[in-house]
Amino acid sequence: MSRMGSSHAPSSRLLIVDDDPLIRLVACERLTAAGFEVGEAPNGEDGIVAFTDFKPDLILLDVEMPGLDGFGACDAIRSTPLGRHVPILILTGLDDVTSIEQAFDVGATDFVSKPLNWTLLVHRIRYMLRAGESFQEVRSQQIRLDDVQRYARLGSWEIDLASGETWGSDGLRELTGLPGQAELPLARDLLDWIHPRDRTAVADLVLETIREGSVFSIDHRVVAVEGTEYIFHTEGRVHRQTDGKASTLEGFSQDITDRRHAEERIRFLAYSDSLTGLSNRAAFKHRLGSAIQSQRRTQKSLAVLFLDLDHFKRINDTLGHSSGDQLLQHVADQLISCIRGSDCVARNAAENSDVMISRLGGDEFTVLLEGMDDPSEAGGVARRVLDSISRPILLEGHEVLVTASIGIAVWPSDGDDHESLLRNADLAMYHAKERGRANFQYYRESLNAHALERLELEGLLRHAIQEDELVVYYQPKMELASGRVTGCEALVRWTTSERGMIYPDEFIPMAESTGLISALGECVLRKACRQVGAWQAGGLDDFRLAVNLSPRQLRDDRLVATIDDVLRETGFDPRMLELEITETALIHSEEQSLAVLEELRERGIRISLDDFGTGYSSLSYLKRFPVQTLKIDKSFTAGIGTGSEDETITAAILSIARDLNLRVVAEGIENETQLRFLEGRHCDEIQGYLLSPPLPAKEFSRFLIEQGSTGSWVGTRLCREPSSDGN
Ligand code: C2E
Ligand code: MG
Ligand code: MG
Repeated sequence: MSRMGSSHAPSSRLLIVDDDPLIRLVACERLTAAGFEVGEAPNGEDGIVAFTDFKPDLILLDVEMPGLDGFGACDAIRSTPLGRHVPILILTGLDDVTSIEQAFDVGATDFVSKPLNWTLLVHRIRYMLRAGESFQEVRSQQIRLDDVQRYARLGSWEIDLASGETWGSDGLRELTGLPGQAELPLARDLLDWIHPRDRTAVADLVLETIREGSVFSIDHRVVAVEGTEYIFHTEGRVHRQTDGKASTLEGFSQDITDRRHAEERIRFLAYSDSLTGLSNRAAFKHRLGSAIQSQRRTQKSLAVLFLDLDHFKRINDTLGHSSGDQLLQHVADQLISCIRGSDCVARNAAENSDVMISRLGGDEFTVLLEGMDDPSEAGGVARRVLDSISRPILLEGHEVLVTASIGIAVWPSDGDDHESLLRNADLAMYHAKERGRANFQYYRESLNAHALERLELEGLLRHAIQEDELVVYYQPKMELASGRVTGCEALVRWTTSERGMIYPDEFIPMAESTGLISALGECVLRKACRQVGAWQAGGLDDFRLAVNLSPRQLRDDRLVATIDDVLRETGFDPRMLELEITETALIHSEEQSLAVLEELRERGIRISLDDFGTGYSSLSYLKRFPVQTLKIDKSFTAGIGTGSEDETITAAILSIARDLNLRVVAEGIENETQLRFLEGRHCDEIQGYLLSPPLPAKEFSRFLIEQGSTGSWVGTRLCREPSSDGN
């Protein structure tokens, strides 16, 4: 059915549909000669079939044909997906207006009257093909643009400002469910699908831009036809005529609902505490910073309440973490309801305009009170909070009593920026703890001085550890049965040029809280092992060294490795080493403590429970943990001879220890009465000023020699100092 043109033809395909065989013949001749590939069909029906098979780039279509005429064939071809855009040139003998109009109505691209001028017709066809290609190009760009818009959930629109007529892209219609172009509402009615609460803002902005601006951009909500609410970002530009009159407004709208929700979620995660739903530390700091700025303008006062639960760890340790979590949620609820009124249990009440409640982490909460006329209002709030928290609550079937300590810092007197306010509220809270807990304290200047002192001390201690300025003193222990000095306890001493001798009770807790204790402990252990090792090498047999280990050290993952290092380095016999720990160290993370103690025992190191009687004094600890010795705290031995119940307690501890097969060392023995009491109750060893106060290494050597000359062993060679350092 088709005839090929010359071999180098551009091979555009043409289909000629005409019932006149002569015209078909001439057409084939002429068009093939002009380089086209030509197909032919004698009537409308065959024309449609040929169109589908041959897929021409252009159709020449006669109007008058038997059966289906040219109009019918054109209409049928246009209604197929392939035929929608193919150029159709109608060949008509009728040049009356009606048939021309009819041709365009059924979708003809152009028409030409018979008789045909073949030369002109070839040019016309070439022109139509070129135009068709450009049209195709524009169309595919449009498709690409539509795809991009769809992908970006974006739609473009245009409004004729004189008539109010609107045009919207397919993308816009898909986003909003607006009707097709033909039924698109006038500009005024478009406002209807903008959310009622954003409508005025959008209308005002657009009108203002039309009046005197050129571009606008706004985020607003829309209600799609099916009722769903979306968030749109809309940008528009006004086009003006030469006289400055606005003629059209065009722009685009993008659905940013997902992005906005993601942002909100990220914001929520970044700024809130997942356990309680309160805001977190970051949010609190941010808010406090801006509250200070706005308070500067209003000249009102602002307060930060810093709340910390008392003995929260105990709840966690005894009832488990889920109870701990429950308690924290309960505290959050209490804070919200007693600060915002009992009806405000909603979490976001905590973000109300003049109050912000946050959880900083752990059992620490903060309350920010803004716009106060009188700082004493903060005390009133603190009291209400303490009252409501102290009401008993049920946790896993147990009635639990919780209290809290609160510190209050007031702006501007207690600090001018958020950091100092928070720090000072924290310090005031510590002050409340020192004052016996379950109370609140305002930060005062005195407290500031105290904090500064603490900071200064921390710096000095850090320096002292680095510069190896700490010294170890030794206090002897004596076995009552034999009267022999069986060992000593190493006690750290720190002398500063600024403040003289500082006692461990002052700096050990600080070293604990700052983490310096690990370095300090290692330094004491190394010095003591080296020194006592030297004494042992000098002939002091069967002599034990006791070193104190603080709770934080026991939680340090590197503890065992550090001890191994020191033992290797100094060659000290682990079986001669005893570590003194307090019960508190065992209570925090029992499992870990147990594992560490087992490891130490495997090395032959002995464990002694220090200050026994002052903590929980729980017998279960004695059974669970590999402990060999109890040290009765000096607060009990001090009462011996006074007829107080301390004597009863000391006697009871001794009897329990005997039953459990534990050695007992009595601390703080200062007089003969205490000594005799303990001898009578078969206490194993004593330690105290009666025997000797803690002594520097040199004096301790002398003490040993004196003891040796009167006691059962000879210590004349003990004056020798260890090789490297001499304390
Ligand atoms: P501790 O382990 O219970 O040490 C005994 C404390 O009682 C020592 O106080 C000692 O000087 C004092 N003492 C000894 N005999 C008597 C006495 O007859 N009467 C009275 N009233 N007191 C006596 P020190 O040296 O001030 O140490 C206090 C605490 O500091 C120690 O209590 C220990 O818990 C801690 N500590 C000392 N050195 C270190 C150390 O190197 N590392 C660690 N982690 N803690 C240490
Ligand atoms: Mg001790
Ligand atoms: Mg002690």
